[in-house]
Order: sequence, then C-alpha cells, then structure tokens
Amino acid sequence: MNKNVLGISFAVFLLMTGCSTSTEPEEDSEQSEDVASDAEQTDNEEETEPVFEENDSEEAGSDTSDQSEDAAEQAPPKTNEKGELENPSALDALVNRDYLLPGDYKPEDLTVPDVPFSFEEEHPKRQIREPAADALETLFEEAEAEGMQLYAISGYRSYDRQEAIFAANAAEDGEEEANKYSAQAGESEHQSGLAMDVSSASNDFALTNDFGETPEGEWLKEHAQEYGFVIRYPDDKTDITGYQYEPWHLRYVGEGLAETLYEADDTLEEYYGVHE
Ligand SMILES: [Zn+2]
Repeated sequence: MNKNVLGISFAVFLLMTGCSTSTEPEEDSEQSEDVASDAEQTDNEEETEPVFEENDSEEAGSDTSDQSEDAAEQAPPKTNEKGELENPSALDALVNRDYLLPGDYKPEDLTVPDVPFSFEEEHPKRQIREPAADALETLFEEAEAEGMQLYAISGYRSYDRQEAIFAANAAEDGEEEANKYSAQAGESEHQSGLAMDVSSASNDFALTNDFGETPEGEWLKEHAQEYGFVIRYPDDKTDITGYQYEPWHLRYVGEGLAETLYEADDTLEEYYGVHE
C-alpha cells in the first residue's frame, strides 16, 4: 500500500515537473505565430526551383546552420496581403522577391553622396538615402586612405525604372534568365535607396564577378560592415538570396546590424529566418 501511494505521488510529481517545464516555451508561441503565418505566405508564393544554377557554392549550408539558427529568432518584417512591407523605410528592411517595396514608395531623404562616380552626368541613380550617404562617404575615404579608389556606379532606382530595366532584360534574355540577375519592380533594394553598386578602375568600372578579386573588392569584403554596409549577395549564399554573386552591390543596414551579419556570416534572409 505504502509503495503504491509513493508510486502514485512520484508519478504526480513527474507530471507536475513535466507541466512546469513545458510552460516556458509556450510564452514565445504568440510571437512565433506571426512568423509561422508569414512563412506560410512566402511558401505559397515561392518558386522552389533554384534561381541560380551555375553557382558551385562550396560552403553553402555546411557551417552556417548553427549561426543562422541563433539569428532566426528575429521576426521577419510585416507585410500586407500583397507581400508589400508595412515599414518600407526601415534601415533593416528585407527586400527580395517575397518582401516587396510598395509601388509608390520613394524614400524621402534621398541625397547625392560626395563620392566619385564612374560617369559625369546628373542622374537619379547618383542618389542614396541620407544615413547611407554619410556612411558611404566615410567608407570611400577610408578605402582611399588605404590606396583603394572606389567609384559609385548606381544607387537609387524608382519602381518605374526598375520595371523598365527588367522588361529590357527579359526581352534580351527571356524572363527566366533575367530573374537570375535582375529584380522585378518592387523587389529591388535599389528602390529602397539603401543600395549602391560600386566598382573600380582596376575592374574597368564594370559590375562583374571579377570585381570581387580586385584589391578594392577584397577590401570591401573585409571592411564594408565597419561602415554599416553588407555585401548583400555573397558567392556562397546564392541559393539563399536567390541572386547570383554580386561583389559590387553594397546594402546599407546600419553599423550594428552590419557587424552582426558579418560576424554570423548571415544574409538578411538568414537573419530573419525566411530562407529555406
Ligand atoms: Zn545593385
């Protein structure tokens, strides 16, 4: 009898401890419901075939999983039913094929940074948002102090201009091919005013993969994050970003986040936990 009573109370004790430990994770579940439903939305909209097939991303997926699990606790940005960002002007905005900028979004603080450009004429693409412009000027100065002369090639791009560019690319190469290297309207970071393509005389001012091997490109890989920028489309993350390697495409996210992403070797998709 005594043994039975002991047995029962022990079982009750086990049940209680089981309950009390299981309550802790439940507190997070409300937050993660948003995440789950957003992720479902992107699942439905996403085309599952790899967007860029030529890439032989040796390191992709191997040693990044631990780090990206940590970073994935960040909730992805909120979007409306069309997939458009509710807060398109956020400096840490995720802009890609699933997280779109509204067609009528134009940043209010566009300005022309005081840096060398590869062309002479006035053009809207000289512009970038105020905080990114300040950071870009400092980055260019520091690069120059170390013997590297960078040139700005292309910054802000309106929704309409992106639409025209994609249409031209699709007419040239077909829509499927164009999707690998060109964003459709609303999907381009250039519309955010937080991106600037850069190159160097050593790469003939061209936006090509070779830029990544120039001293300027190598310097950017090591130092861009110190000024709040990231190389948004790295060589070993093409299956995550959905874009081919673009060593020339700098995206401003702010110094804190840029350092975080650099240290974790994460893309914005991994940071927000929205990659497959
Ligand atoms: Zn770009």
